[in-house]
Amino acid sequence: MINDFFINLLLLVSMMFIGGHLSKDTPFDTDSGIVTKTFLGIGGGVLAIFMMIYSIKIEGTTTLIDLRIIALMSVFYIGGLLPAVITGIITVVFRSLYYGFNQSAVVAIIQVVALLILYSIINGLKYGSLKKWIVMYAASIIVLFSTWYYLLFNVSNLISILMGYMAVATIAAILAYSLLRYVKLSNELYRRYKNEATKDFLTGLSNTRQFDKIFDSSAANAKEKGEKLACLMIDIDHFKNVNDTFGHAVGDIVLRELAAVLKKTCRIFDIVSRVGGEEFCVLLINCSQERAAEIGKQICDEVKNHKFDIGDNRSINITVSVGAATYPDTIDDSEMLLKQADDSLYKAKQTGRNRVCTSNTCEL
Ligand code: GH3
Ligand code: MG
Ligand code: MG
Repeated sequence: MINDFFINLLLLVSMMFIGGHLSKDTPFDTDSGIVTKTFLGIGGGVLAIFMMIYSIKIEGTTTLIDLRIIALMSVFYIGGLLPAVITGIITVVFRSLYYGFNQSAVVAIIQVVALLILYSIINGLKYGSLKKWIVMYAASIIVLFSTWYYLLFNVSNLISILMGYMAVATIAAILAYSLLRYVKLSNELYRRYKNEATKDFLTGLSNTRQFDKIFDSSAANAKEKGEKLACLMIDIDHFKNVNDTFGHAVGDIVLRELAAVLKKTCRIFDIVSRVGGEEFCVLLINCSQERAAEIGKQICDEVKNHKFDIGDNRSINITVSVGAATYPDTIDDSEMLLKQADDSLYKAKQTGRNRVCTSNTCEL
């Protein structure tokens, strides 16, 4: 019994960690798409099959019990009804093929249907995570025991079988819950840190580190395909005044809103990043210098005409200066693209701000 039980626990741990690893980037949950849910349901089915193959023999009896119920519960708990239905179907089909279609197989089908109905009801009660798991487990035990009682009521050691099952299933349920929580929390942390490592926390745009990566790959791609790559360096004019007049918090609001204006003004596939305090860079993929200057001008106009809502029914206007450069139109060496855009930005500041400058022109 101990050996079989140990194998079942190992199966549970392995499957939970494999599932956790596969859902590292995109979580398995009730909001997942149909493909992910199907995948989860199949995973649960595979776990249930292994649990049936490695059934546990109750000491002193000839009865075999298995922990497939934990697989079904876990899948419902993670992904809701659809994946649990898939796990349930796989379980009853495999059971009928493995042990033959007999009275017990019919009982197994009834159990799965009853459990899925009960789980759905429990889910609707909006319990917290631990309470939900405990109530689901209690419901599972009630369903299993009542159907087994019907099936095995004339078996002399029914009580030992039920008690043995209860002991084994309770330990497995506690382990499964701990693993589910652990995997969920560690995956959430992983996704958060990954996001924070690439995104600027204030605006949600790519941060400098991510920008460097994107720039390197975009420059390599442009070289390889013989495409153009334009860069717009954007800096808010006299932003210090905004902070000094309205406070740093209002400055942050303006930065956030400017990020939205930039994203809206650029093309959907252009990459907008925050590369400094109040400096932004837009990489325009496969874009000529002429078009880049036009987009730079559009940005200046959009920003100038935008009313930045700073709360208390107040709004302010700001302007930005833009430096534009394009590989290979204005510079042969893509490595120098950012430097040239920066120099052009400096020129825009020097010549009066609120304008777009290239290496040889400035436009208001
Ligand atoms: P210029 O037109 O020459 O660019 O003038 P400026 O005032 O915009 O430039 P300066 O470099 O003198 O000041 C930039 C200001 O941006 C100073 C700094 O406090 C502010 N800043 C940088 N990062 C943040 C931020 O995250 N939030 C807020 N609110 N302000 C920031
Ligand atoms: Mg500035
Ligand atoms: Mg600046």
